[in-house]
Amino acid sequence: MDGRSPRILVIGAGVSGLTTAVVLAERGHRVRIRTTEHPADTTSAVAGAIWGLSRLRPRERAVRWEWRSHEVFLELAHDPSTGVHLTPGTVASREPLTTSWLEETRSRTDLRECGPDELPPAFTAGVRATLPLIDMPRYLEYLLGRFHDAGGELVRSPVPSLADAAEESPVVVNCTGVGARELVGDAGVLPVLGQHVVVTNPGVAEYFVELSDTGYWASYMPHGDRLVLGGVAVPHAWDRVPNREVTAGILRRCAEIRAELRDAAVRDEIVGLRPRSETVRLHVEHYEGARIVHNYGHGGDGVAVSWGCAQEAAELALAEPGASPTG
Ligand SMILES: Cc1cc2nc3c(=O)[nH]c(=O)nc-3n(C[C@H](O)[C@H](O)[C@H](O)COP(=O)(O)OP(=O)(O)OC[C@H]3O[C@@H](n4cnc5c(N)ncnc54)[C@H](O)[C@@H]3O)c2cc1C
Repeated sequence: MDGRSPRILVIGAGVSGLTTAVVLAERGHRVRIRTTEHPADTTSAVAGAIWGLSRLRPRERAVRWEWRSHEVFLELAHDPSTGVHLTPGTVASREPLTTSWLEETRSRTDLRECGPDELPPAFTAGVRATLPLIDMPRYLEYLLGRFHDAGGELVRSPVPSLADAAEESPVVVNCTGVGARELVGDAGVLPVLGQHVVVTNPGVAEYFVELSDTGYWASYMPHGDRLVLGGVAVPHAWDRVPNREVTAGILRRCAEIRAELRDAAVRDEIVGLRPRSETVRLHVEHYEGARIVHNYGHGGDGVAVSWGCAQEAAELALAEPGASPTG
């Protein structure tokens, strides 16, 4: 590592902060992460997580971020210790499927339409596709290991203001998720609460995701002996204490798809706050002499776009002073 290069400060140790910090540290820069929560306690650790299905904006950039991330996840899936694995499964709906994501994905994966006998009762449409699944607690540990191996330093230390960050480093990357609402006063970032129920996997080898706009659905994602069940989306909710009724609803909906889940042993109930924003905030701001790169507001798709966003954030962080920022 070049001891003379400036220290870059990354705020946040969820998937956005860790991935961006890995990209920067592996390019030989001195990187420090400051975070309020340990990675294992972030919203990122709660995610299912599956690559794909993003509706993020700006659409053109989001598509680029998704496919760049897909490429990286395919490489990582060769190494089981990363927590990334390619898994077949079904995305299904009780309504006709109309998202443009399907067309794009069809051309780059094995995605195909389900036959009627492949759909659960009451579902009218669905596709089958082999997609990257990411076992988040293990994956965040893996990213942290890579970051440390590249010489990075992580400290548990909340950043009270951008001024405090700018004083510490001339280059700052802000990956604070819903925390950006307070840190930079961005009222456009809203928490959308999600809860998962983690059960002992009774032998499920495929994922299932119900597409629904109602705010609740059935989903399950296998990671070895753990099966992560969802899901709900509750806008404007901040309380990360698991809700018993939500857990019961998730178990009931998932058991309607796979009967053996009715008796699955519950290991954990976990809650996270998706940082929803009209558009992903990935742009440069000049603040009190520092170059601040914002990388937050990825809603329910932050894992799926993490590598594409991290690489773009790193480019912006390393761009020559005076080069025009993109927004
Ligand atoms: C139930 C659920 C299921 C999901 N499923 C998927 C999925 O299948 N696929 C997918 O792609 N996405 C999924 N998501 C969305 C995904 O989890 C988020 O988009 C992603 O985790 C956001 O990551 P982040 O690093 O930006 O934010 P976070 O994970 O929230 O991390 C923010 C970090 O910033 C730190 N921080 C905040 N403020 C400060 C401060 N002032 N000073 C210092 N540190 C600060 C926090 O401590 C934390 O370390 C899901 C989310 C939920 C809740």
